[in-house]
Amino acid sequence: MISVEHLSKRYGDVTVLKDISAEIRKGEVISVIGPSGTGKSTFLRCLNLLEQPSSGRISIDGVDALDPRADVPRLRQTMNMVFQSFNLFAHLSVLGNLTLAPIRLKGVPRAEAEAKARELLKMVGLGAKADAFPEELSGGQKQRVAIARCLAMEPEVILFDEPTSALDPTMVSEVLSVIRRLAKEGMTMIIVTHEMDFARDVSNRVFYMDEGLIYEEGTPEQIFGNPVKSRTRAFIHRIRSYRFDIDSTEFDFYAMNAEIETFCEKHLLPRDTRHNLLLLVEELVQLHLPSIAPGPIAVNVDFAEKTGELSLILESPPTVGNVLESGGEDDEIALLLVRNYAERIDYRVAEGLGQLELVVRRG
Ligand code: ADP
Ligand code: MG
Repeated sequence: MISVEHLSKRYGDVTVLKDISAEIRKGEVISVIGPSGTGKSTFLRCLNLLEQPSSGRISIDGVDALDPRADVPRLRQTMNMVFQSFNLFAHLSVLGNLTLAPIRLKGVPRAEAEAKARELLKMVGLGAKADAFPEELSGGQKQRVAIARCLAMEPEVILFDEPTSALDPTMVSEVLSVIRRLAKEGMTMIIVTHEMDFARDVSNRVFYMDEGLIYEEGTPEQIFGNPVKSRTRAFIHRIRSYRFDIDSTEFDFYAMNAEIETFCEKHLLPRDTRHNLLLLVEELVQLHLPSIAPGPIAVNVDFAEKTGELSLILESPPTVGNVLESGGEDDEIALLLVRNYAERIDYRVAEGLGQLELVVRRG
């Protein structure tokens, strides 16, 4: 239904979207997630032709949307957008907001447009608000009016740009419920959202956007349960990181320890967990110090807010290998000690670095 090929968008020297390709089929619900500033809104705005892409192709039902002869108003009706900030017309009643575009743009007779509008208002739970003005409504009600207004144009696809992020927490669920209902009814939707539980259970596919790309995509089970790429994992598990680079055997061990303690305090880690972490850091830094010569090492502490998992990751040149399996006589003792404080130990070579990861045993 929608096909996007090698879409890019630059503002001056800044490339916001690098190279986006995607196919969206009828009836699919796609959630778009990712850190702010990664181009999620820009992507939707390009799809909706509110922005002119710098290059690439967009076709909707086989129609080239970027063809200069394309009927842009018609395409915007096909793919209508709901904004974070509602964008209702303040001087029009709720009914007026819903009927304006159908009457003006589609030539629907007023009586018919009003009947349809009342029906849609009922559907979003606001049958009694037809004559109210936007300023009389709560944020959640305004957003439901905005959704009804969007539906009044009978779109084939709805684009939502963070539809709940301007709302008080108490009003989020009334809006999400309306969107869930649309999903059940088979509406094709692309939803940019920070509501992870909602994204997980409403969508067929999830796009994780980062670095101007659809960095990883998959089913909700894949993206939320088992993200493969490092940035996706960091985002999904809300990983907070601390890093210390060691490039000399004379580095300031006490300063590093103090910083790690501060990091642990900031994230409210229990004393025993902190203790286990510090012992692991000491042991592993000792084991790595003889190999400083082939290149620097880095001590990374990752705390996943989502799961509570705390990991210590030592990065060194791949030539150093796994210091816990170097074949020396002390290895067994070191390994025994480390096992006491670590739940899991894993060594891998990734992104050109040897990474020894230890999941710290919790106190
Ligand atoms: P997101 O929705 O993922 O938070 P946006 O698509 O809003 O990200 O923005 C991505 C980047 O593009 C941001 O760094 C933003 O500053 C930049 N950007 C967005 N719109 C414009 C514009 N009209 N001119 C210049 N830069 C822009
Ligand atoms: Mg945005």
